[in-house]
Amino acid sequence: METTKTINPATGEEIASYDRITADEAKEKIAKANKVFQSWKNESFEKRAKLMHKLADILENNTDKYATLATQEMGKIIGQSRGEVEKCARICRYYADNAASLLENRSVETEASKSYVTFQPLGVLLAVMPWNFPFYQVIRFAAPALMAGNTCVLKHASNVQGCAFALEEMIEKAGFPKGIFANLNISSDAVEEVIENEHVKAVTLTGSEPAGRSVAAIAGKNLKKTVMELGGSDAYIILEDVDLEEATDLAVFGRLQNNGQTCIAAKRFVVVDKIYDDFLEMFTEKMQAKKMGEPMDEDTFLGPMARADLRDELHDQVEKTVIQGARLVIGGKIPKQKGAYYPATILAEVEPGMEGFDNELFGPVASVIKAKNEAHAIELANNSTFGLGSGVITGDKDRGEKIALQLEAGNSFVNKLVVSDPRLPFGGIKNSGYGRELSGYGIREFTNTKSIWID
Ligand code: NAP
Repeated sequence: METTKTINPATGEEIASYDRITADEAKEKIAKANKVFQSWKNESFEKRAKLMHKLADILENNTDKYATLATQEMGKIIGQSRGEVEKCARICRYYADNAASLLENRSVETEASKSYVTFQPLGVLLAVMPWNFPFYQVIRFAAPALMAGNTCVLKHASNVQGCAFALEEMIEKAGFPKGIFANLNISSDAVEEVIENEHVKAVTLTGSEPAGRSVAAIAGKNLKKTVMELGGSDAYIILEDVDLEEATDLAVFGRLQNNGQTCIAAKRFVVVDKIYDDFLEMFTEKMQAKKMGEPMDEDTFLGPMARADLRDELHDQVEKTVIQGARLVIGGKIPKQKGAYYPATILAEVEPGMEGFDNELFGPVASVIKAKNEAHAIELANNSTFGLGSGVITGDKDRGEKIALQLEAGNSFVNKLVVSDPRLPFGGIKNSGYGRELSGYGIREFTNTKSIWID
């Protein structure tokens, strides 16, 4: 029997081994989710909300347990893992409290005696999810999906199967009907058959661009709706009027949070010429000062990357960027210690055409880019095949807003790192994907926007 092994990236030691399910077992779970859908779709918002609040209680009452599991499986520093679990609870409560109004019928005046738009659930949804926020990415999809009346099957990243089963278990414990949310421990090769299954009505994927292209192609062939939340190479424009202390604090956290493995992390720092050297000096000092180490230690700032193969790939990208002409300021060497560690690394004078400019660096590596002026900075920021998040750091909010409106991205924040907030839609453009999660836009993605006309 095939198994999925989870490995602690801080030590390289195996944590657990999970048997993969067969194609027939996957079919059974999908059929069960479809059966549950037949009654769940008619359940009241009040009942759904009660269960969703219970799920939030379970997350809040077991924060340490779930946070430890996430840290062990993918290396996030423990304080940030706790923050992730708490954020999951907030999303559950947001949708418990707001789903009914977000999905309220919209009356439209026509010649009919009555006409309106209603939002009905679609059925079983497949979620293909990444390891970088092993609880949050799933809850961000599942809370609105369940509140809208859908049911779910999950293909989670192989390296966080413990979290995947914990999610299945907590949803059942909250009192949701058994089988409403099933973890399918399958390989990515087996995803095609799940998408083809007649009961699966739509697919959401959060992950890399290649995975998105593959899943979207299969779903397209089967005419199934998709939402794609893919990678990014977010640019932050740093203007000459900034407070450098604040700007560099933001830059360090933006690049190192989640050990550098966040889709909306600040990855390209586009700094105007006038302050380039000063920014780089202060940024380097602060990056260097951050402690790398065991992610369960409270004073660690930078833990290991999630897997050794991902660390090795990142290192290859760093070496390539240096060969292409960038300057390695700090880091850039695989430390001689066990675990998938990679040090805080800065590449300076990065330019278009270099690996560190053109592609996503999914780890603690910052690309610093010199811009002649504001217009050039906007041009450089937009010179990317990705378009997920983006930011402007400036002493002048109005100037920042004007620039934010010109950035080609799904999210543009001024003087703040991009974060996902349940009240605002989240998603990307270009190769960062399409569709939106969160807010009313997100919950309506997986509903049938249906027109009703009574003559
Ligand atoms: P990944 O390698 O693409 O994996 C994501 C999920 O897709 C995993 O469950 C994986 O399963 C599965 N998968 C991979 N290739 C597949 C294929 N060809 N067909 C079907 N399923 C496939 O990504 P990751 O390394 O977990 O996550 C990092 C990437 O996700 C980064 O690019 C990051 O920017 C992006 N991301 C985007 C967002 C967003 O909201 N836009 C949020 C978080 C992360 P296995 O684990 O079994 O391979």
